[in-house]
Amino acid sequence: MSVASHFDAMSYGPAPEGDAEARAWLARHADGFGHFIGGAFVGAASGESFETFEPATGRLLARLAKGSAADVEAAAQAAREAQGPWSQLSGHARARHLYALARLIQRHARLIAVVEALDNGKPIRETRDIDVPLAARHFYHHAGWAQIQEREFPGWQPVGVVGQIIPWNFPFLMLAWKVAPALALGNTVVLKPAEFTSLTALLFAELAVAAGLPAGVLNIVTGEGDTGALIVEHAGIDKIAFTGSTKVGRLIREKTAGSGKSLTLELGGKSPFIVFDDADIDAAIEGVVDAIWFNQGQVCCAGSRLLLQEGIADKFLARLKRRMDTLRVGHSLDKCIDMAAIVAPVQLQRIEKLVAAGVAEGATLYQAAIDLPEGGCFMRPTLLTDVQPAATVAREEIFGPVVVSMTFRTPDEAVMLANNSRYGLAASVWSETIGLALDVAAKVQAGVVWVNATNLFDAGTGFGGYRESGYGREGGREGVLEYLKPKAWATRQPRPATAEPPQREAANGFSLPSLDRTAKLFIGGKQARPDGNYSRLITSPDGRVLGEVGEGNRKDIRNAVEAARKAEGWSKASAHNRAQVLYYLAENLSARAGEFAGRIAAMTGATIEAAEAEVAASISRLFSAAADADKYEGRIHTPPLRGLALAVHEPIGVVGLICPPEAPLLAFISLIAPLLACGNRVVVVPSEPHPLSATDFYQVLETSDVPAGAVNIVTGPAWELVKTLAEHDDVDALWVFGQKELSAMAERLSTGNLKRTLTDNGFMTDWHDIASCEGEILLRHAVQVKNVWIPYGE
Ligand code: NDP
Repeated sequence: MSVASHFDAMSYGPAPEGDAEARAWLARHADGFGHFIGGAFVGAASGESFETFEPATGRLLARLAKGSAADVEAAAQAAREAQGPWSQLSGHARARHLYALARLIQRHARLIAVVEALDNGKPIRETRDIDVPLAARHFYHHAGWAQIQEREFPGWQPVGVVGQIIPWNFPFLMLAWKVAPALALGNTVVLKPAEFTSLTALLFAELAVAAGLPAGVLNIVTGEGDTGALIVEHAGIDKIAFTGSTKVGRLIREKTAGSGKSLTLELGGKSPFIVFDDADIDAAIEGVVDAIWFNQGQVCCAGSRLLLQEGIADKFLARLKRRMDTLRVGHSLDKCIDMAAIVAPVQLQRIEKLVAAGVAEGATLYQAAIDLPEGGCFMRPTLLTDVQPAATVAREEIFGPVVVSMTFRTPDEAVMLANNSRYGLAASVWSETIGLALDVAAKVQAGVVWVNATNLFDAGTGFGGYRESGYGREGGREGVLEYLKPKAWATRQPRPATAEPPQREAANGFSLPSLDRTAKLFIGGKQARPDGNYSRLITSPDGRVLGEVGEGNRKDIRNAVEAARKAEGWSKASAHNRAQVLYYLAENLSARAGEFAGRIAAMTGATIEAAEAEVAASISRLFSAAADADKYEGRIHTPPLRGLALAVHEPIGVVGLICPPEAPLLAFISLIAPLLACGNRVVVVPSEPHPLSATDFYQVLETSDVPAGAVNIVTGPAWELVKTLAEHDDVDALWVFGQKELSAMAERLSTGNLKRTLTDNGFMTDWHDIASCEGEILLRHAVQVKNVWIPYGE
């Protein structure tokens, strides 16, 4: 071939990255890798092992220890022993350790990048330029949080021993996302990498030894899914942080229910990539390339649903196909490729099966007209058009290089299509009209929104999902809080078992007793008879009948949820308006303070002074929530790019709330107030033995401009009502304060729509203690953080 013909063709030759160092490192471990436990590499207790292969060639890369119960036990014990001393180091000392790790990652960046590319099959260009630098950034950033921890989080302490389970799509980066914050804040770690991609975690363990990280602070147990399950179920682990499929996320929620373990889940996605007709089309097409063919589309936040405004759809798709034909698929170590190998044959088969299902359901298939390398797990960039919103490929996470496209006419339709998913991880919005782009960003249900950009990440900006994409955040201040727990809650004592719940009295028709003694339910701003037409007697501790309340059932909860759903206006109201309403509630409660104190004293047997103190604290708490309504705001981040990321606090939506038996007014107010302040609508089950101060509160609500449906109150058996709330798919979050078993049930049954739960696990809160129930301690559970990235420039 002549030089001139090269100029004509302008084709690329291969530009392979050297792998000698990586192969030498692997050769040094030719006998197999052990687990990393207590600062040393140790063989599997069972002697069992498994193999890991190179996706681009199918070659064997290494043999790894298979983690058994004994290995997990040893790792959890090592982590437990190290946790106290590690958390007692000064923030500065921990910062220096993280800083040392960051430095070592940078020093060994090329080796890590090559090992990662070999093990996962992803392009070296991505491991070298994205995964490894971002991982280093996570350690630097979190070294900073360690340094200022005592100053920034005086009321918080480390969670303890954290079990971390990570997937194969970004093995090293996910390790950094999990390990850096955990260690920075004083926790110790038992980490399981994915079975396909454990090598960079083991390389990192070697770096940790070199960096002088104390033994036991970081432990790595390799293995398959069942090793992960052993970590999840280990009683000596205080928190599970998981990234992976929604299916396994659900399983983990079930397994940890009632264990008291805290949980963060970073799960799947089906993220919309919305292009309006005034978008910069060339930029948007490059955006699609980054959104779906980055990392072979094996990205939880991949822009896998392309939503095009009708006017530009044909032109856009034609240009996109042309661009697809210029993409290069090759060996992961070739520096001139756009896409490399799928992680494993089983994944490739799964993707191909889903594409075939798409075609069978009527989609039109386009695959880039390009050559693939011989052998290995390669796949062509793939586009499915003519896809219906209900089609399998429009709903299921394909987790491969496959984008499906649909069209829309108006911004409202775009938002509707975008939100027509059980997931809510990320979204991209493309428009040159910033007002339109930001309006859509606000309306899309997703934890991360990129405006005129895609797949931007930074340690200082949180990442995580809405809805079935999971809960919890990684990165940013909100990510730090996931690795801390309130000191005020650490000393809570188990709630004494209550006497048997009061007997249900079949009152022979709801309206039999005199009306002034019978409280109905409060649904959609109105008093409503309970569906079952039963009521229960409420008595004082010495057996006097104080009144009667409705016995709510499943139907009542459903009606209340429906009313709460409709009260969307409350979530859209300005923070100032919400504050006004909360102040007004406080004012009206204050006007009737004596009456409420009398009621509390009669119901609970408390002295009148104690009851008055409860009312006074409730009024104060409403004032605090009113104050917080327009002050518990988001943040503006300045990630390393020209632009901003806005961390916006959004309401979660409809929140179910089970109030504890004690402090019937104060606990009720302490829990509804922050939820209302943050714009949530609530369905509340008040104290089961002492519900009358909540039913008396109807009149306060009615006279305080609380919109209908923002607060719904259903009295009755917490046991039955929590079940309906937990299983209801229109309830977005559930707070449960009460007997331990209630917490367990709520968590176990919450997996349907993966609702967020806040449970006290049977531990009693001191409702008079501001540190225990006012401010960020509850507010952070009343919001979900959406990070909107807005790069700018000419
Ligand atoms: P999984 O969710 O199965 O795996 C994620 C991690 O969890 C791995 O370390 C895995 O171990 C471990 N694991 C598996 N089963 C259990 C269990 N019962 N208890 C505890 N840990 C467990 O994802 P896969 O790797 O199997 O991929 C399947 C699909 O999941 C993909 O096709 C994709 O759709 C989705 N996925 C989504 C990701 C995301 O970030 N959203 C990431 C990865 C996958 P091991 O690898 O050894 O099985």
